[in-house]
Formats: sequence, structure tokens, C-alpha cells
Amino acid sequence: MKRLFALICVILGIAAAADARASEAIADQYPASALYAKPVEVIPHVWSAIGATAPPTYENWGHNNNLSFIVTGDGVIVVNGGGAYLLAKALHDEIKRITPQPVKLVINENGQGHAMLGNSYWAEQKVPILAHQDAAKEFAARGAQILASAQRVLKERAEGTRIVGPTETFTDKRVIEMGAFRIEVLHLGPAHSPGDTQVWLPKQSLVIAGDIAFHERMPPLFDDTDSKGWIATWDGPFEALKATYVIPGHGHPTNMAQVRRYTRDYLVYLRGKIREHLEGGGDLKGAYYVDQSPYAHLDTFKQLATRNAGRVFVQMEFE
Ligand SMILES: [Zn+2]
Repeated sequence: MKRLFALICVILGIAAAADARASEAIADQYPASALYAKPVEVIPHVWSAIGATAPPTYENWGHNNNLSFIVTGDGVIVVNGGGAYLLAKALHDEIKRITPQPVKLVINENGQGHAMLGNSYWAEQKVPILAHQDAAKEFAARGAQILASAQRVLKERAEGTRIVGPTETFTDKRVIEMGAFRIEVLHLGPAHSPGDTQVWLPKQSLVIAGDIAFHERMPPLFDDTDSKGWIATWDGPFEALKATYVIPGHGHPTNMAQVRRYTRDYLVYLRGKIREHLEGGGDLKGAYYVDQSPYAHLDTFKQLATRNAGRVFVQMEFE
């Protein structure tokens, strides 16, 4: 009996913790929906369905990033197409429960699968889709590969998902006035991947940061990630926004101090470690294992830490 009680406490404890913080160990927080979690209202009229802080899986339907939307008073703006057709549809179902206002625009935060694969659903609804021109180029070049990998992971849950790029692109900035909101769609500079996009709400002092900002999971570095440029973009125009609220690309809504600590400071830390390694005559093989233990508690550490170190080594070798 006592054991049963303890077991129930453990189960309830896990359920309670699920809302409070991210954990890649929790497979799904919203079993009734394709979404990993039910959308929450972060500040008035700005909502986000917080994705798993894990890689895309069959269980999370590929919902491993944040799918946000702004109920402007004169229509809804969605930030991110989502990683699959059915995921975008599930988000739309939630939006329809919250407001009768129609979705008037979808913004893709970059050219990756979790930003663009769900465009196939939104295009079918005849909703315009906006992305940075470099993100559009990236998706056009890599879309087939991105779709194939999503289909491998999601199996029948990838149904309906096709390669559909944005219907419009921007270069530096696009300002949208809609309802009570001024929405600035920004590309502040090089960061995590080509065409990184930040959605800035100056009146609310909230930034839907996209993949420039992480805190609960490890930031990923790709072959085309410019780690030096990412820090410069951060220290310059990103900090200059002086955002009070941050909805990062992945993980719960937070503030600048927290994403600075786990993204900007991580990049500076990792580059410092690789610099030491290079100065000591170290090679690529050794670079994978530089000490990253201060970040070992972050989700996806196991998948990303050594890979990140290798990529920074390759970049810094010729800096
Ligand atoms: Zn992402």
C-alpha cells in the first residue's frame, strides 16, 4: 500500500513538473493533440505552443520547437509553419478554439524543417507565408532531404507534408501593423542558420527570437553556423532590442538574462575552450572532447556537445 502511494506520488510529480519545466525525457504533454503541449498565453494575446526540448520523434509529432501566434484584434499571425502538415493543422485547431479571427500570415523563423514543413498545410488554407530570402533559398536547396528525414521519423504522421516554401520573402526588415500590434519581422545578422528571423513586438517588449536564442536545450551548431557572427549579432542588434520577454526558438518563454547565459555565454565559452585547444597544438579528434561540463544539464547535450565542438574547431582553425 505504502509502495503504491509512493508510486502514485511519483506519477503525479512527473505530471506536475511537466508544466513547470522542459525535459527531453517527457515524450508528450498533450496526448489529445499532435502538438507536444497546449498553447499558453505568454503575455496578453501572444500565445505559444512550446515544443519538446528533444530531437523530433514519432511521439512528439516533430513538434520540437515553439509554434507561436499573435491574436492582433484584426487577424492572427502565426510564427512557424511547424514540422509537419498535421502539426500545423493541430495548431490551427487550437487557434480556432481561442479566437474567431482568421489567420492572415505565417512567418517562418528559418529554413529548417520545423519552421517550414507545415507550410504545406497553411498554403492549402491560402494563408500567405513570409520568410527571409536566405531561409527560402536554404529550404529550396535542402527541402527534399529535410522532408525525407521527417518522413522517416514521423511515418504516417508525416501525411500531407510536402515541400512548400514561403510565398513572400524579405531581406532586412518587414513591418506589419495589424490590429493593436506593431510587428517587426527582423533579420538581425548571422546566427544559427541562414535567414534567421526574429519577430519583435516593440510595444509589448517581447521578442519571438527563433533559433538565435536557447536556454533549456543545447544550441546546435551546423556546418553553416557562424559562431563568431552569432556572438556579434547577439552583442549588437539583438541586445539593443532590450527585450523584456523572450520566446526562444525552443524551450519555455523567459528573459534575456537566461538566454544570454545559455546561448551567447555558451558560444563564448566553447570558442574559448577550442582556442585553448588550438593554442596547445590540439587536433580535430581531440577537439570533440573539450570540457563542456557546465552545460551537461541541458537537454540534447548528448546529441550536440561533441558535434558543436568539432564544428567550432573547423571554423576557428582558419580564423
Ligand atoms: Zn530550431
